[in-house]
Amino acid sequence: MIEAIAKTLEQTFSFVTNGGVRVRFAPSPTGFFHIGSARTALFNYLFAQKNKGAFILRIEDTDTERSKPEFEEDIIESLKWLGIKYDEGPHRQSERKNVYRKYIEKLLKEGRAYYCFCTEEDLEAKKQEQMSRGEAPMYDGKCSKLSEKEVESIVEKGERSIIRFKISNKKVSFNDMVRGKIEFDTNLIGDVTIAKNLDTPLYNLAVVVDDYEMKITHVIRGEDLMPNTPKQILIQEALGFSRVEYAHLPLILGSDRSKLSKRHGSTSLREYKELGYLPETLINFLAFLGWNPGTEKEIFSFNALIKEFSMDKVQKSGAVFNIDRLDYINGFYIRHKSLDKLSELCIPYLIQSELITPILKSEKVPATFGGESISFDYIISDTEEKLDRDYLNKVIGAYQERLKKLSEINELVDYFFKEKLEYDGGLLVWKDMTKEEVSLSIDKAIKILSKINDWNKKNIEKALLDEANKIKDRGELLWPLRVALSGKKSSAGPFEIADILGKQKTINRLKQAKIKL
Ligand code: GLU
Repeated sequence: MIEAIAKTLEQTFSFVTNGGVRVRFAPSPTGFFHIGSARTALFNYLFAQKNKGAFILRIEDTDTERSKPEFEEDIIESLKWLGIKYDEGPHRQSERKNVYRKYIEKLLKEGRAYYCFCTEEDLEAKKQEQMSRGEAPMYDGKCSKLSEKEVESIVEKGERSIIRFKISNKKVSFNDMVRGKIEFDTNLIGDVTIAKNLDTPLYNLAVVVDDYEMKITHVIRGEDLMPNTPKQILIQEALGFSRVEYAHLPLILGSDRSKLSKRHGSTSLREYKELGYLPETLINFLAFLGWNPGTEKEIFSFNALIKEFSMDKVQKSGAVFNIDRLDYINGFYIRHKSLDKLSELCIPYLIQSELITPILKSEKVPATFGGESISFDYIISDTEEKLDRDYLNKVIGAYQERLKKLSEINELVDYFFKEKLEYDGGLLVWKDMTKEEVSLSIDKAIKILSKINDWNKKNIEKALLDEANKIKDRGELLWPLRVALSGKKSSAGPFEIADILGKQKTINRLKQAKIKL
């Protein structure tokens, strides 16, 4: 009992001296930032924040062929965009070769690691043989039996080699913060490759060394990395390092409950960003990929997550990536944006679809305030009119309620940026009206609208409804009107569109519609 208390005190004390919880996010820059990596980063960050600990970014670029600077940039940009700030780093494994070398030499010297000269073909043949016997394929330890002399002479000949760590046969168990007690039988694990040579460490060694050197206290990562954990624990033990705590986060699954992959749709964060999902949406959504607060509440700000997050509410079973939930959350955050901000966010999409064009605007500001500053004005590409910000706000505002992602905006609002609308005249026809009747209905709308002096939505609505309510089917007046103004089967309501377009444009569009009939 006393011993247990002393141990707890010692642990607490050593945490204090070490500065408390230290976690790391350790992506490999071998592809665009994956949505699963973003989830891992977020859980590490939340855990660090919750425990007032440190969050460290480590770039695991030991695979020199597949690691690319643009992928590292994408990781850093993505974290910034999401608002996940790191306290240390980025540390790059490629810049720490000397550190690993020391430990590889130590393992070799102590006989815990050895050079292996088996060729790819040897290994493949062995693998096939083992599989044909119904055994799990693993390295058979052949080269561990070579004498020092034999090794020297093969090395002298310049044969290709790799360095392996000897897996001792025993049971390795650890307490996973998510999954509870986990036990591995190391008889089923072959000797692990830990370095290509003294200067080129491989994943399992570099991770163990870095976690130790960087004083990591908790390793929080995806469940797919779990098979490496017993190997890493054995390497830690061989090097005399203390054990870290582990938490393996549940797999992310597609809608068919198989592991999330390209087959299910976009998997990189940048694709979601380009589609127009907001960072606050992704944070909220990613948090629910494996965690939930145990209540019905679905909307969580970053701060609320930091407050509520706890590792014991992380689930063991796979977390399904539900795109409808993502859309729902994004719709929520879009509805809660100020119109100014939402319009600003939509601008890149409007430029991309060439509805508007940016023009450089240089503003001279006094040198004391930084000299010349550059900003943009926009013109409506089709008409070359200057884009008025109030106009833009009204256009976007007409769709704020129903917008699910920013990239949808172009198709919804394009008709506000066109001089002439392209649509089939047949669309103007309501139910079984004849073309003549539609034409008369449009004339009627023109007459009513022309009389309005104070042009605003309320007056437009009142004038048109007074007339529409006189006829049996309001659609006879309102449908052709709405189509004439939008050129679309579905759009915002006719009164709102008319208000945004202004009197002149509204009447012009009605006249153009008559020609189309
Ligand atoms: N670099 C590894 C990966 O990106 C993760 C390492 C770890 O978390 O232990 O898959």
